[in-house]
Amino acid sequence: MDFSLSDELSALQASVRRLAQDKVKPRARAIDKDAAYPQDLFDAFRDAGLLGLCIPTDYGGSGAGILGLAVAIEEVAKYSNAAALMLLLTRLPTGPLLIAGTEAQKEKYLIAIAEGTQRAAFGLSEPQAGSDVMGMRTRGVPDGGGGWILNGTKCWMSGVREADWYTVFAKTSEPTSRAHDSITAFIVERKWDGVEVGRTDHKMGVKGVDTGELVLTDVAVPAENVIGEVGGFRLAMLGLNAMRPIVAARGIGLAEGALMYATEYVQQRAAFNKTIADFQGIQWEIAKCAVDIEAARLLTYRAAVLADEGKFTKEYVPYLSMAKYHATELAVRASSLAVQLLGAAGYMEDHPTEQWYRDAKQLTIVEGTSQVQLGLIARGVLDRDLWWD
Ligand SMILES: Cc1cc2nc3c(=O)[nH]c(=O)nc-3n(C[C@H](O)[C@H](O)[C@H](O)COP(=O)(O)OP(=O)(O)OC[C@H]3O[C@@H](n4cnc5c(N)ncnc54)[C@H](O)[C@@H]3O)c2cc1C
Repeated sequence: MDFSLSDELSALQASVRRLAQDKVKPRARAIDKDAAYPQDLFDAFRDAGLLGLCIPTDYGGSGAGILGLAVAIEEVAKYSNAAALMLLLTRLPTGPLLIAGTEAQKEKYLIAIAEGTQRAAFGLSEPQAGSDVMGMRTRGVPDGGGGWILNGTKCWMSGVREADWYTVFAKTSEPTSRAHDSITAFIVERKWDGVEVGRTDHKMGVKGVDTGELVLTDVAVPAENVIGEVGGFRLAMLGLNAMRPIVAARGIGLAEGALMYATEYVQQRAAFNKTIADFQGIQWEIAKCAVDIEAARLLTYRAAVLADEGKFTKEYVPYLSMAKYHATELAVRASSLAVQLLGAAGYMEDHPTEQWYRDAKQLTIVEGTSQVQLGLIARGVLDRDLWWD
């Protein structure tokens, strides 16, 4: 058992830490305020080779894997969760292709992501089908010539407006079916007829990278754009399982940023002829949060290593889900503590604490809510996938 990062990953961590301090930190508040897509940061990530971290070298990436991407996201999320989301979006929509895409799909779509010439987004949720994905109404029907016609509306899709293509899931058997083989994954290009970005959402946090609707009206999808098998819904779940450590990294980075900021503040803030940091009650809060952060990092790095080893099938789900659950709930607790430790100042826009607090909350909702993760962890224990005997 080795708890240290490899030399390559340590070097990656150091270089992304510098980039995050130099380029992301000074931009973070303006991105939140203006809610405008930070193209300059996308360009900086591209120039630093960060858009291809999780893409294999055969397809133009660096092959740093899920652990590499998680390490990079942790650094960026110390300052901006929107910027961290931009990195996450190199993996969420490409995950199903990486797992089950054809050679032609990988060459056509993955290389452009790694090079930063294209962007992608992931369409699973629908207004009436979030946690309950089997309730989706987007339909794919055969066009008679081997291809498919797609109709439906996806919602809350991160990066929908900037994307050049989408990984979209649709019912390909009876609309009322709840069988797993009733859903298929497709690659849908933005420029195709019938593909439109609908309304975009006004969000509480993580502004700058929009979320919104993708409206599909009689979209003709060629057979070669089916990902994996027709009826291969399992792909969505495998893709999301492998994503757990990456979302978790957004949580631990945010928590680290918030605790460091609040610690520096209380060490300088005078009260009762001392600093706030001199009070034991405050020190214990800092200590508890530090324990929480390190526990989340261990869970997250282990989950990333498992995912990189291809261990994201059912028996590994509890380990992956607990990283996501713990790290994202931690982000909410740590950002709340940071606001509290700054007092009134923490509530004001003069400090980033109120932004971290708003940003953190989305992490316990996206890609499987905390309740969904708890359900998966409990299922793992009940099924003895997680057992200590
Ligand atoms: C900022 C943001 C970005 C997003 N980006 C994307 C994206 O890029 N692509 C995409 O497809 N989706 C995206 N989503 C949607 C996200 O994946 C869903 O919000 C999430 O899956 C939860 O679905 P829901 O919002 O419909 O909540 P619901 O499923 O309606 O759940 C409501 C509440 O009930 C709880 N609940 C539901 N089922 C159970 C259960 N079985 N047991 C116990 N409690 C339960 C939930 O935990 C939650 O607290 C995004 C959401 C947000 C907020």
